[in-house]
Amino acid sequence: MSTFLFEEIIFGPVTSRRLGASLGINLLPGDRKICNFNCIYCECGWTKKTHGHRSEYPVREHVKDELKQRLLQMKSAGEPLDTITYAGNGEPTLHPDFPGIIDDCIELRDQIFPDISIAVLSNASRISNANIFNALIKIDQNILKIDSAFPETIKLINQTKADYNLDSIIEKMKMFKGNFTLQTLFVKGSYQEVPIDNSSDKEVQAWLEIVKLLMPQTVMVYTIARDTPIQTLEKVSASRLDAIAEEVRKLGLEAAVSY
Ligand code: SF4
Repeated sequence: MSTFLFEEIIFGPVTSRRLGASLGINLLPGDRKICNFNCIYCECGWTKKTHGHRSEYPVREHVKDELKQRLLQMKSAGEPLDTITYAGNGEPTLHPDFPGIIDDCIELRDQIFPDISIAVLSNASRISNANIFNALIKIDQNILKIDSAFPETIKLINQTKADYNLDSIIEKMKMFKGNFTLQTLFVKGSYQEVPIDNSSDKEVQAWLEIVKLLMPQTVMVYTIARDTPIQTLEKVSASRLDAIAEEVRKLGLEAAVSY
């Protein structure tokens, strides 16, 4: 199946229910994905590189300059903007200058569009790094991934490396004091003939225990929407996603569902 990559540093804006008019920033190379996960559903395709040399990433000053130009252009054209969102071809926090880039973004946002939010979509694997954590707590919307409460399911779905420790990620997530969005992709099917269904009752009950521990501001419940690297995956039904979201709402939390 054909997955896709963002060729530019700045992309969009695209409109979404959750982020409104969102200007995307890709801190990864434009021609390949770099991520320390290898999710079997990743829209960017399989991970071929789990980290990159500094020279592969866009230079901090260049990112700042491009963002400045784009924000000024949008401001003078009267284009609406709600969010600047770090996403793109992999895990944004892997950029070696991620904390400085966030500082630059806050500076530009405050100067040019003071009312908008800054969001980061992250697999949360690097929040134990103090520099990354300190950068993330400065922004408005952290959207952090946990796809299962079971390490063996995470290993299967996210293809994490041996050093990924769910318990320590949960402990660190608690330090956001609920001020983040928990993002979970539900998927069914199989990978290398091993069955997968993180929307089963057993999976969801265990996952809800994590949700209770973390009490995030919002929980994003979604499923695959675009092409994936393998063809043995299927969407979880809208009715099942709604039922999962309802369980989240019973905890007094906001749930955002995408089909
Ligand atoms: S964490 Fe995100 S970018 Fe990385 S492999 Fe998973 S879906 Fe793709």
